[in-house]
Amino acid sequence: MARSVTYMTGSQLLSLKRHPNIAVIDVRDDERSYDGHIAGSLHFASDTFSDKMPSLIQAVQGKDTIVFHCALSQVRGPKCARRFSEYLTEMKEHAGIKNIMVLERGYNGWEASGRPVCRCSDIPCKGDSS
Ligand SMILES: [Zn+2]
Repeated sequence: MARSVTYMTGSQLLSLKRHPNIAVIDVRDDERSYDGHIAGSLHFASDTFSDKMPSLIQAVQGKDTIVFHCALSQVRGPKCARRFSEYLTEMKEHAGIKNIMVLERGYNGWEASGRPVCRCSDIPCKGDSS
């Protein structure tokens, strides 16, 4: 049975962000390149998401909480989160992942609340290690 996908608010994410076991997955498509992003987030665009799930598992090794978001977290974010959850179940592959979550209100809500955004063009984003 696929684990359920739960929601996390921006303030919860902000307070947890320095937690080393959290991975933030941005599933927006082109918007990421011009809208900025959450520092340290990984980019797995929704249009190729299904094909990239094996590399996503590699990328989140050692993380126990995976937080997905898109622009609003209404369509692409929850869809990719559910797909990833089902994939883990099908593969009988849990890779230590305990929580699959979606960031409420997505990137747009995060930015609109004045939370820190990163505008680097590094792939992957190295995040704010300061
Ligand atoms: Zn960045």
